[in-house]
Amino acid sequence: MFREQKEKIMREVEDALKRAGRTDSVTLLAVSKTFPAESIIEAYEQGQRLFGENKIQEALEKRETLKGLKDLDLHFIGHLQTNKVKYLKDNFGLIYSVDRIPLLNEMEKHFARIDRVQDVLIQVNTANDPAKSGVSVDELPELLEAASKCGHIRVNGFTMMPPLVNEAEENRVHFARTRELMEEMKKKFTCDNIDLRILSMGMSDDFKVAVEEGSTLIRIGTALFGGRH
Ligand SMILES: *Cc1c(COP(=O)(O)O)cnc(C)c1O
Repeated sequence: MFREQKEKIMREVEDALKRAGRTDSVTLLAVSKTFPAESIIEAYEQGQRLFGENKIQEALEKRETLKGLKDLDLHFIGHLQTNKVKYLKDNFGLIYSVDRIPLLNEMEKHFARIDRVQDVLIQVNTANDPAKSGVSVDELPELLEAASKCGHIRVNGFTMMPPLVNEAEENRVHFARTRELMEEMKKKFTCDNIDLRILSMGMSDDFKVAVEEGSTLIRIGTALFGGRH
């Protein structure tokens, strides 16, 4: 089941890459939130290593259940409250939701304390959607400036959540704008711990458009595991 779904998605990704004339590749994050640990085990046995969770508690429970799966790489894709930062520790290979300076500062303190350099993405609210979190385009340079001074945070790129629409095509402009924004910021910020190379855009309903517009890391839940309850 998982393997067939993944193969189908990766074929569609290949087609989208070709349409866009891209010669690089796209990584697939399997979004396992709300699905039981058994779903992760099944996917793991079929070669999947990257999984995304959006709730700290659920992620830590699964991490504990699955601690036998040594190279399992859990990514945290959910909104992060400042008072939950203390639970992050070394549990997540990549944290997607850095979107404000107080959160950044709390994370820097936490990762300094446990002597870890944490890989993160900045979540940008490119579409200025009031329903979504993410730093505004205006405040992005200030956030990156603050991140450049954090010795225990490494910014790997950007992520975004597009507005809810009927047709993925409607969000093409936001995907394109996010890619342009990353190109602009890449020129501005050349410090060691800001290395903008991952652009995480695209979920089950819109990954083809996102890949055509430059996504390098798609986050897929329902198209891999079936409907959530
Ligand atoms: C749930 C979720 C996804 C996956 O959504 P699907 O539509 O199930 O593919 C991707 N990214 C984030 C941040 C999510 O919370």
